[in-house]
Amino acid sequence: MIRDVDISISPEAAACDGSILKAASRKAGIQAESFTILRRSIDARRHDIKMQMRIRLYAGEKKPRFQPVAFQSSSGRKAIVVGAGPAGLFAALTLLEHGIAPIVLERGKDVHSRLRDTALLSQKGVLDPESNYAFGEGGAGAFSDGKLYTRSSKRGDVGKVLRLFVQFGADEEILYDSHPHIGSDALPSIIENMRSAILSHGGEVRFSTLVTGLIRKGDETIGVRLSTGEEIIAPVILATGHSAKDVYRFLDSSGYALEPKGTAVGVRLEHKQALIDSMQYHAEGKRSPYLPPASYSFVTQVSGRGVYSFCMCPGGSVVPAATEKGHLVVNGMSPRSRRGEFANSGIVVEIRREDVEGDDPFAVLRYIEEIERKCWNPGFAAPAERLMDFIDDSPRSGVLRTTYHPGVIPTRLDDVLPPLVASSLREGLKAFGRMSHSRFLTNDALLIAPETRTSSPIRILRDDGMKQGRGLYPAGEGAGYAGGIVSAAIDGTEAALRLKGDYYGQEG
Ligand SMILES: Cc1cc2nc3c(=O)[nH]c(=O)nc-3n(C[C@H](O)[C@H](O)[C@H](O)COP(=O)(O)OP(=O)(O)OC[C@H]3O[C@@H](n4cnc5c(N)ncnc54)[C@H](O)[C@@H]3O)c2cc1C
Repeated sequence: MIRDVDISISPEAAACDGSILKAASRKAGIQAESFTILRRSIDARRHDIKMQMRIRLYAGEKKPRFQPVAFQSSSGRKAIVVGAGPAGLFAALTLLEHGIAPIVLERGKDVHSRLRDTALLSQKGVLDPESNYAFGEGGAGAFSDGKLYTRSSKRGDVGKVLRLFVQFGADEEILYDSHPHIGSDALPSIIENMRSAILSHGGEVRFSTLVTGLIRKGDETIGVRLSTGEEIIAPVILATGHSAKDVYRFLDSSGYALEPKGTAVGVRLEHKQALIDSMQYHAEGKRSPYLPPASYSFVTQVSGRGVYSFCMCPGGSVVPAATEKGHLVVNGMSPRSRRGEFANSGIVVEIRREDVEGDDPFAVLRYIEEIERKCWNPGFAAPAERLMDFIDDSPRSGVLRTTYHPGVIPTRLDDVLPPLVASSLREGLKAFGRMSHSRFLTNDALLIAPETRTSSPIRILRDDGMKQGRGLYPAGEGAGYAGGIVSAAIDGTEAALRLKGDYYGQEG
């Protein structure tokens, strides 16, 4: 007999298989021998914190084993995938499922070499424009927090993306946690395992390989041109992320259809993790060892404009995510344990197309670039201001200790952010303070600017009436149809399926 049952138990009981089995069997009124967890979330609305779990019980039945996705070796069919971020990697894996060999072209280095380059950037302020937090194997997702929460479940099979992550080495917990997370320290080996699967089934992965143009024949894209002059001919999945501005430029100059797209910009906010724990778990002192480091999620409207927290990294650090000298961008990441002393989150303001000057495809990008340039300091030191000093607009104290390695420079943030962003942030933060009974609003928290690359400021059009023609499949965050690891992975998967349908029919 198989039976699904919902239970609500203490965090301590939820950490013990025997207690889960006992509680679930009692609730279902059966004597089960084994179980799997289908869903798990924390209910911290009251002091008496509970774990809400959906459990599948097996009584007299065998628990099914994890079913890995099978890949096929190619039979002469091929496709180009530009970019080895989540969209490109999942596109490549999907092609392999259907016996099409992907040729993955990545401008950056392999994920392990990237570790050295990102360390050099963080610790010495030296940027390699082709190997950094955005460019290289794994894309922007490689050194992320690896949060896999997404709202894009209607767009594709989120479960399959998560199962593939598990197949390549992620913990099975991501299959049932309501806010799954992998961790920046666990991601590199998962990405390497994906590469091994691609290579062992006849695909190719080429690093330090910069695509500088597309080759067209009539209205069909038939291949790509590399910076070396080499040409590769096959249909193209373009999954280059939102930091590849050179890609938007060569698409625009070759007549492909682009449009400007709204995005969100703001700052990273860094608190002590202990404060967030006490705020969310209603307790002073040390967090229970059975509870994970707490996170928060806030959203409000300021004069009809969205202001929200974004990409929260409990126990994490703030990192320099720029791809060019003279521009500053910050972002956040955290290791699997999330055991760091600080919590950080983006706090961002919605920017609409009509907020910026011009309506050409690059209008929103120009707005963002201006902020990044204004915030830049030698060595990638970031402008920063204490939270209450910013809210009261009365800079009075120096900055705080921070996880941001290149260092921070005390700055009145109103001097480096556009007035629209600064004033909306200020009102938004006040609203978050009211929602959290003001505990959130402390001068022991630091705002670090700027968080500008939350989503693409440009969309590469891909549906009807497009000038794109056949043979080009823009995918992932850079195409403007996804934001975040899972939605980019889903979008890459969908692009691969469209390519397969168009070029290789129903076979395979
Ligand atoms: C520090 C950080 C933390 C993040 N944390 C999270 C998180 O916890 N959860 C989450 O969901 N999202 C997170 N994100 C966002 C997430 O990483 C992106 O949404 C996601 O990686 C987008 O995937 P993508 O494949 O579309 O593009 P990208 O990941 O940007 O990959 C694009 C790839 O294309 C390559 N490329 C670009 N141009 C060329 C070219 N001309 N030729 C060859 N190759 C090229 C790039 O080098 C890159 O590897 C984070 C981002 C950063 C920077």
